[in-house]
Amino acid sequence: MKGIIEEVLITHSEIKKRCKELGEEVTKDYAGKRLVLVCLLKGSVPFTTELSLNINLDVELEFLRASSYNGTNSKGEVKIDYFFTDSLEGKDVLIVEDIIDTGLTLDVVVRELKKMNPKSLEIIALLNKKDVKTDLKLKPKYVGFDIPNKFVIGFGLDYNELYRNLNFIGVLKKEVYGG
Ligand code: 5GP
Repeated sequence: MKGIIEEVLITHSEIKKRCKELGEEVTKDYAGKRLVLVCLLKGSVPFTTELSLNINLDVELEFLRASSYNGTNSKGEVKIDYFFTDSLEGKDVLIVEDIIDTGLTLDVVVRELKKMNPKSLEIIALLNKKDVKTDLKLKPKYVGFDIPNKFVIGFGLDYNELYRNLNFIGVLKKEVYGG
């Protein structure tokens, strides 16, 4: 599998260390509160898991899937499927995102979740493409790593539904996707 990787950007131990730090920060910031983590399927599953194991609070997990209608054009319509157990009404909610690129998907998710009247709504993202201009209305409260504008895979992130199970974040070789 290593043959498809141009470069390892973040190792598994670096991810684990950062998730521990983020979990401690979240625990401190939400001390005494009950927190709902909203995991964006499928990419955020490993991050949500690792993060939640490092949060020492009463935590609820909810899931949603946001998909763009027209694949590569992120300006397309976003469809949201909810797999929620409870309403977010009056709750402290943290959206868990794998990567912020243009931020367009996340903007739609924030707009929709706000309609559920949570007490608070914030974003935590494992990765942020620092050179991509985003017009995100709600800036992430927590970011794991700022990365360059390259196509990355692993730790939840896929290429054609593969490589989500890699335990590190790597740059996909251009010849694999013809970029
Ligand atoms: P945005 O709406 O921020 O442009 O796109 C966010 C979504 O696009 C992410 O949740 C992720 O699914 C996908 N995405 C953006 N950049 C990358 C990348 O470098 N690698 C992979 N695998 N997916 C990406």
